Amino acid sequence: MQQLSENLSYTQELIDLENEFGVHNYHPLDVVIERAEGVWVYDVEGRRYLDCLAAYSAVNQGHCHPKILRALMDQAGKITLTSRAFHNEQLPHYLKELNDLTGFEMAMPLNSGTEAVEAAIKIARKWGHKIKGIPEGKAEIIVCDGNFHGRTIAIVSFSSSPEYRDGFGPFPAGFKSIPYGDVEALRAAITPNTCAFLVEPIQGEGGIIIPPDGYLHAAAEICKQNNVLLVLDEIQSGLGRTGKLFCYEHENIVPDVLILGKALAGGFMPVSAVLASREILGVIQPGDHGSTFGGNPLACAVARAALRVLIDEKMIDRAAELGDYFLDRIRAIQSRDKRKIIKEIRGKGLWIAIELHGMARPYCEALKEEGILAKETHDHIIRIAPPLTITRDEIDWAVERLTKVLDA
Ligand code: PLP
Repeated sequence: MQQLSENLSYTQELIDLENEFGVHNYHPLDVVIERAEGVWVYDVEGRRYLDCLAAYSAVNQGHCHPKILRALMDQAGKITLTSRAFHNEQLPHYLKELNDLTGFEMAMPLNSGTEAVEAAIKIARKWGHKIKGIPEGKAEIIVCDGNFHGRTIAIVSFSSSPEYRDGFGPFPAGFKSIPYGDVEALRAAITPNTCAFLVEPIQGEGGIIIPPDGYLHAAAEICKQNNVLLVLDEIQSGLGRTGKLFCYEHENIVPDVLILGKALAGGFMPVSAVLASREILGVIQPGDHGSTFGGNPLACAVARAALRVLIDEKMIDRAAELGDYFLDRIRAIQSRDKRKIIKEIRGKGLWIAIELHGMARPYCEALKEEGILAKETHDHIIRIAPPLTITRDEIDWAVERLTKVLDA
C-alpha cells in the first residue's frame, strides 16, 4: 500500500484508516506490525520489538515457525477445506495424534476458543440431561468470578465484568458464579441439577490469577463426588505456557472435559478443540453441533505441526526453566523498587504478571519505546508472556528495559 500523506507517518496513516473504517472494539498500542520471526516483531517503520504477549499465548511456538509454515504451505497446495460433509485425509491423523499426546479418547475440532467454550457448554448440558438425568432444561453450570471464556451471549452472560455485559441482554439462564479459588463455595453451590464446573486453572484475562495450591485437586474431588463434570478452559494456560503441557498437570489431576485453542495452531490460524471421554462426547450426534471450517485439512495439518514442534523442540521444559529465571529476575526489580510502584509479581512458567499500584498503560507505552511489546490487563497489570522460544539472553535484554521503565 502507498503512503498517502507526506505529513503523517505510515504508522499513523494506517492507524487512522483502521479507526475510520473498523469497529473500535479494541484499544491497541500505537504500533503497526508488518512481519515477525521467533520472538521478534517488526513494525512498518522497520523498528524491532520483543513480543511479550505472543498474541495472548497463541504464538507459544514463536512467530512464523518454519516447520509449521512448511506444513501450512504443503497442505495449502493440496486442499484447504472439504467441510465435514466429506472426510478429509488430515483430520483422522490429527485426532489420533491428539489422543496419543493427551490421553483423551475423543475430540471435537473447532476454530476459535470461544466457539470451543460454547461447544463445551452444550456438551456438558446434554450430558447432564441425557446421562446424569437432570430434568430437561434444568442443567446448571458453575463458573468463577473473574472468569474469561470469550464473548458470545451465553459466555458474557456469566462474566463478572459489567462492561462485557452492558447492553447485550437478554441473557440465557443456567449459570451460577462463585469466588475463584474457594473450594467451599464450590461445594456449597452444587445442586442435583449441576452438570459442570467450568474453570480456568489460572485466570489469564483476569490478571494471571493463580489459585491456592491444591484448589484444582480439591475441585476435581468435589466434582467426582457429586457426578459433576470438571471442564477446564486451558485455551490460554495450556500447551506449555505454564511449564507443563497442561496447567492441570501441576495438580496431578485430569479434567473430564478439556478446552484448547490459541497455540494449538502456533498462531497460524484459529484452531480449537474440546476433548473428553467417549462417554461424554458420545452424547453428540450428527446435527447437534458443527462448523464449516472445524476440522478442515489445512487447520489439521497446521495443528499437527504445531504440536510436534512444541514437543520435539522441548518448548515446555524451556517454559518451566526460563519462566523461573524470568520470574526471579523480575522479582529482583521489585526488591529494588524504591518508589513502591509494584504491588505484586506472580507467575507460572513463562506467564508473569507485574501488578502495579497505578495504571499499567503508560508503562506499556514506555516499554514499546524501549522495544518491548506488552499489554496491560485489567488496568493495573502488565502481562509478560513471550513465545516459549525466548532465550536467556533475550530475557536479560528484556529485564534491562523493564528495569529502566519501572525505575523511571
Ligand atoms: N478462554 C480463555 C481462557 C481465553 O483466554 C480466551 C481468549 O483470550 C478465550 C477463551 C477465547 O478465545 P478466542 O479469543 O480464541 O475466541
